[in-house]
Amino acid sequence: MARTPLMAGNWKMNLDHHQATHLVQKLAWTLKDAKHDYSAVEVSVLVPFTDLRSVQTLVDADKLELSYGAQDVSAHTEGAYTGEISPVMLAKLGVTYVAVGHSERRQYHGEDDALCAAKVASAFGQGLIPILCVGEGLDIRKAGEQVAYTLAQLEGGLAGLSREHAAQVVIAYEPVWAIGTGEVATPEDAQEVCGAIRQKLAELYDAELAEGVRVLYGGSVKSGNVASIMSQPDVDGALVGGASLDPEEFAKIARYQ
Ligand code: PEP
Repeated sequence: MARTPLMAGNWKMNLDHHQATHLVQKLAWTLKDAKHDYSAVEVSVLVPFTDLRSVQTLVDADKLELSYGAQDVSAHTEGAYTGEISPVMLAKLGVTYVAVGHSERRQYHGEDDALCAAKVASAFGQGLIPILCVGEGLDIRKAGEQVAYTLAQLEGGLAGLSREHAAQVVIAYEPVWAIGTGEVATPEDAQEVCGAIRQKLAELYDAELAEGVRVLYGGSVKSGNVASIMSQPDVDGALVGGASLDPEEFAKIARYQ
């Protein structure tokens, strides 16, 4: 089954809503440049909550070929959860994707697999597509336990998920030691874990489902290293942090061939 590559830019906690407008406009012009063809790839931006309305307005007004999403979502739909953002609110803003379990949420906010599973379910409950982030830290990698560790996170984050929803989920393999460090995984490292993720999906559900799920790599992806990572059979795109703040660089990443 052909999987449409997804290039998702994670802006993290950068850019206010004015800056977001400029970046999306520049990105849109770059993607419209007739010299390059982006039709075979989906480009998306995961923006701070406060930028969503600006991005939505631009995407709708200019009919941009750009999807957008949030970097987190509440496990609850409404109520006394001060500071949380509900999937209902995100759905009203035209959001397609929500990142769940990014390593920075796991590390700084103590998010565990059970909470990730609840967020995955909450996203699907409102028609949003979760990008479930998994990946090992340096100590686990040094111990050679990256596959077992990452698959345990995967299984935990998908716990209780129906086949119908699992068929739509996006998985991002992001080795923590490669995020924001400039130290990218080798293509073989990325393939080892992304391939194991696909195999695990086949075990948890079935082979047909596993063939259709997009598995992204994330961790210091740049225009200079994306092609070799994308050449791996089980890598279907990239979750891009720092480099997605530069629209020209991000567009180059999106046309990785
Ligand atoms: C990320 O934030 O998910 C990420 C991969 O960041 P960077 O590309 O900067 O390593």
